[in-house]
Amino acid sequence: MQVIYFDNNATTRVADEVYEEMQPYFRQLYGNPSSMHTFGGQVGIKIREARARVAGLLGCDPSEIIFTSCGTESDSTAIHGTLAAMPHKRKVITTRVEHPAVLSVCRDLESHGFTVVELGVDKLGRLDLDELEHQLNNDTALVTIMSANNETGVIFPIEQIAEMVTGRGIAFHTDAVQVVGKVPLHLSKSPINLLSLSGHKLHAPKGVGVLYVKKGTRIAPFLLGGHQEGGRRAGTENVPGIVGLGRACESAAQNMADENTRVKRLRDRLEKALLKGCPDSRINGDSESRLPNTTNISFEFVEGEAILLLLDRHGICASSGSACSSGSLEPSHVLRAMGVPFTAAHGSIRFSLSRYNTQEEVDFTIQKMPEIIYRLRELSPFVQNTVRV
Ligand code: PLP
Repeated sequence: MQVIYFDNNATTRVADEVYEEMQPYFRQLYGNPSSMHTFGGQVGIKIREARARVAGLLGCDPSEIIFTSCGTESDSTAIHGTLAAMPHKRKVITTRVEHPAVLSVCRDLESHGFTVVELGVDKLGRLDLDELEHQLNNDTALVTIMSANNETGVIFPIEQIAEMVTGRGIAFHTDAVQVVGKVPLHLSKSPINLLSLSGHKLHAPKGVGVLYVKKGTRIAPFLLGGHQEGGRRAGTENVPGIVGLGRACESAAQNMADENTRVKRLRDRLEKALLKGCPDSRINGDSESRLPNTTNISFEFVEGEAILLLLDRHGICASSGSACSSGSLEPSHVLRAMGVPFTAAHGSIRFSLSRYNTQEEVDFTIQKMPEIIYRLRELSPFVQNTVRV
């Protein structure tokens, strides 16, 4: 059976050009970039090239790029590294809808005596910037707010937030894991101090990420050991991963505008047809400010997991809640923070597209989905007892 992959916010397929460029760095050019010999040195040159390519996509200086193992490590480094550099400050501000890579770190800080404020969102998943401003004070070391939500695709006004926060002399970090490669960035012109990204969300392999650290930002290293990454992140580099990420960033910089237009057109076609074909369904999140590839739709009175199982029988991959929390039947913390009613939160499905999706795949899904929803509602005791279909 052919796979129709609509789970690109969970992970993406490695692009052909990325895979090809990585190949020599497994078995031919396997030297250690820190070695003194020419064999290792040529690998070091390739890492420099990758760093420049990443910086090209982010619009910053290559010296501001630190390679890490993933988005999670970048987030942890940004938070712990900033707090370690400012031991006299004890307050951190974040949001209730962050990915666990930020939220669990912040919640753990509370048990170590930090004051952590989690800002709420409204029913469209938007932040109240007045509430943020009200929370900033002299004890605040760091504000960490994601650029776009992985479950709903809602984009936050990060530049405006960064201005507000850094204007008060407070460090600002953004988890941009879902945004890089989908939204243009010009970090040299931005007040953002720290930004996390992850290779496997933009057609590079798993196991490589980046933490951008703006020149002049105070941050202590998180992993101690060797002198890699200018002493800012110890550990022998994941060379093939870094080479792949560099190539993926170059492709994104070249093709982002065209790809986004095409992907958005497919996403809108899917969304519109599903809302029309499936009664009692609705979009979760602010449609005005959303990633071009993501739609999160609630189908009332059915379990998201049941929908996923039936989609899976047709080879269609989507997700209910976030991929990282699937396996648990708790409704997603993001939808709960938005006040989505229980019956709708349980029946929410995220479709996240990529450049590899086709109109045929979208149309096949449009054809199958109403059948699935009607079938599940017929079986649902809740529907039979309380509502008409
Ligand atoms: N932040 C966001 C917004 C994410 O969506 C994810 C992964 O889903 C992460 C962080 C974690 O990234 P990684 O899987 O590279 O650790």
